[in-house]
Formats: sequence, structure tokens, C-alpha cells
Amino acid sequence: MSKRKWLLMFVISLIFLLTVGCNADETQQEGLDGEQEETNSIEGTTEPENEGLAITTSFSILGDIVAEIIGERGTVEYLVPIGEEPHEYEPIPSDFQKASDSDVFYVNGFSLEGWLEKLVGNVGDVPVVTVSEGITPILLEGSEDEDPHAWLSVENVKVYVEDIVEDLVERDPSGEETYRTNAEAYLTELDDLQDWIKAEVEAVPEENRVIVVTENAFKYFGEAYGFQTEGVWELNSHEEGTPSQIARVIDFVSDQNIPAIFVETTVDKRYMERISEDTGIEIAGEVYTDAVGQEGSGAETYVLMMKHNVETFVSGLK
Ligand SMILES: [Zn+2]
Repeated sequence: MSKRKWLLMFVISLIFLLTVGCNADETQQEGLDGEQEETNSIEGTTEPENEGLAITTSFSILGDIVAEIIGERGTVEYLVPIGEEPHEYEPIPSDFQKASDSDVFYVNGFSLEGWLEKLVGNVGDVPVVTVSEGITPILLEGSEDEDPHAWLSVENVKVYVEDIVEDLVERDPSGEETYRTNAEAYLTELDDLQDWIKAEVEAVPEENRVIVVTENAFKYFGEAYGFQTEGVWELNSHEEGTPSQIARVIDFVSDQNIPAIFVETTVDKRYMERISEDTGIEIAGEVYTDAVGQEGSGAETYVLMMKHNVETFVSGLK
């Protein structure tokens, strides 16, 4: 071996040792002062490191669904922070680290994660699994592309759960009982949620069953629970908010004579505010489409965010 190669190997070894050293320090420090670095990890899922799987999901809603299934077995992290929308997300360096440290990376598919290619190309051989397999997509208006917001129908989330369980069992057979037991309980909870939604929306007169938001994300919800939906644009990644798009929604809202419109937690509210000013129709509340709620919002999980949405729609439209 040449001198240069030896030198190179020495430098690489040194970097390796330094990196390992730093990580060990961090771990120790965290353990000592008990403080946690702010990460997108889900509470209650940081149990034994040698048991279960390290899972990363693309966004928080999927993270919550996976956390329900794995319970205390393994860890779940998600990439897109709460409050940001997942369509045009720009992965940051720690995302590459999270994804490459995982046993599996779960994604929604239906073109939600347009940024995924960039990430996947840089995370080595971590398997990327699409958990919407088996869901019949709704297409974006005037497009061949699928609308990604399948999770806004509870029935679809039951399919996500089935897909996730099958994948977990295959990857970690000794956790099968845990996964299946947790999934059964969660599926029951989802059935209850769905029954509750169907009963709640009965309070809204048929002619008022129209959801108007900025991003027309409630198509799956609308199809499942009997609402017409409208938005300034179809998808955040196609965001334009042109005067003609706004004018179209103003006409629609005026024609429909509906009592309320809504804003989303992850979208710029100015478009709907403008429409509200122009039509005199009030904004009846904020709904969750692309992320669960922040800690303390009362919408920290998928089930809670759906309840919040339905309550907001019903009180605004009834
Ligand atoms: Zn969206």
C-alpha cells in the first residue's frame, strides 16, 4: 500500500473514532440531564433498543398510525415537522440521518412525497414501503395524477393499518402478537370513529354539505361522508392562488349560499381570508389536513384531528 493510502486510511479511522466518541458523549449527556433534544419522535415509543424496529415515516399522520400499531415495541419518527405541509418539503440533513438509521421508511405514496427521490437516493438500502396499497385513488381534477389525501377517509386508514401490520410482521416476526393485538384495538377505534362521524354529519342540512378550504384536500372525506368539496387549488405543490382561482371560489361560495368556509393549519390563511372578506361568509375554524396538531392542540393524533375536523365542519355548517 502506498503512503498516501495509509494516510487516507488513518484519516478515515480518526474521523470514525471522533464521530463515535461524540455520539457516545451525546447519549451520556441526554441520559444524565434527562433533557431531550427536540425531535419529531412520538412519545411512548422509545422502549428497548434491541427489540422491535426503528421506523421513520414521511409525515406526522403516518407516524401516529404506525405508533398505534407498534405501541412500546420499537421507535417511530417522522420527517415533515408538524405545521409544515408534506407536498413540497425540503429534507434537511438530519432527515437523511433519521431515514438511513431506520429499519424501514414508510411513505404514503400517491405522489405525496415528491421530495422522496432526493432522500432515497441518499439513504443507502433502507427499504421504502408505500402503505396505501389497496386504496382506490381519487384523481386530481383535470389530471391523471392521484390525490394523495387518502387518510382523510377513515376507511382508507384501515387499509394503511393492514398494510403496515403485514410489513411489520414480515420484518419482525417475533413481534407479531404485539402488532396484531394493537392493530385490532386500533381498527376498532377507527370503526367507532367512523360511526361517530357518520352520526355527527347528520346534523348538517344536505344543502350545506360543502367543504371549502384552500387546498381541495377533503375529496376522500367528502366521498366517504357525503360532502361536496372545493378549494382555491387542487394540491399545495401546485399552489398558485391566482386572481382567477380566487374569483372562481368567490363565485362558488356565493352561488352555494353556504354558511361557512374553513382554513387549514398547514396552508397560508390569506386566501380564505380574502374570500371571506369578499363574500361576507365567515371562516368557521381551522382544520387539519396534512399534519396532526401540535402538543396541547387537542388534535395530537389522527383520531383526535379527525374529531376536531368533524366538529368544526358541523358547527360551521349546521
Ligand atoms: Zn395536502
